[in-house]
Amino acid sequence: MRIDVVTIFPDYLAALDLSLVGKARRAGLLDLRVHDLREWTTDRHRTVDDTPFGGGAGMVMRPDVWGRALDDLMLETSAPTVPAAGDDVARGAHLVVPTPAGEVFTQRRAEELATEEHLVLACGRYEGIDARVAEHYRSAGHRVSELSIGDYVLNGGEVAALVMVEAVGRLLPGVVGNPHSLVEESHGAAGLLEYPVYTKPPRWEDREVPEVLLSGHHARIERWRRDQALERTAARRPDMVAALDPELLDRHDREVLAGLGWQVVGGAADGPDGRRSSARLERVAE
Ligand code: SAM
Repeated sequence: MRIDVVTIFPDYLAALDLSLVGKARRAGLLDLRVHDLREWTTDRHRTVDDTPFGGGAGMVMRPDVWGRALDDLMLETSAPTVPAAGDDVARGAHLVVPTPAGEVFTQRRAEELATEEHLVLACGRYEGIDARVAEHYRSAGHRVSELSIGDYVLNGGEVAALVMVEAVGRLLPGVVGNPHSLVEESHGAAGLLEYPVYTKPPRWEDREVPEVLLSGHHARIERWRRDQALERTAARRPDMVAALDPELLDRHDREVLAGLGWQVVGGAADGPDGRRSSARLERVAE
């Protein structure tokens, strides 16, 4: 995979030389290039921003500078093509614009982006990038994702780009040494948070590791971990429990969730309008 990151602070992205992403770059698993947006300016002051039309505080990043940068980088791989019906093979560069006004970047979005051959991340500063930039590349046939890393406002898109490159990069084949460690993680296919983890020593500050983990009994350990994941998710992220697919829950899971105040409703019975409602989890009123 190739990822281009465009920013006015290339040094901010130096952290991508470290750890697993740095190793993946050196191993040729990830072709990551960081560019200074000012390389595409044409004036003596290397200006990338101007005052907002309509007035108001702050500055806005100019579309012409971004356009020159993105035209150069986005077309370095294949030209964009709108996939034919039923063809979900990604082609052309996918433009990712970090913005607090975007859709929330989730593990699902990371998984989708990890299937792309070429991502270009456009890091905004000031009040953000002129809105015509995203519109222009979308109408030219590129996939364009405006994504937020959470409901708070940062000074620039660089930290968001670090988050996205790391979340996507670790999903590429060969980047994480033991691919099994990706399977049971929080926000994985099970839709749960991960169970608590422990290591040596077995006793620390008068706290013992749960006995079951020392038992060597794999089935019991697996069940305990699943129960812990359900309990943790119910306590910390009830929105994730509400989004669980009841089809993926066995009888024991349903009993654990019932003990935590959640029950499966709908599915078997017909809805009030005569239609079959789909099964879902609902919190039982206390
Ligand atoms: N005026 C913008 C708004 O209210 O939506 C905020 C601009 S912010 C100060 C400057 C840049 O930081 C944005 O263009 C974006 O690149 C980045 N940024 C800030 N918060 C972010 C977030 N939660 N997720 C992703 N990018 C963010």
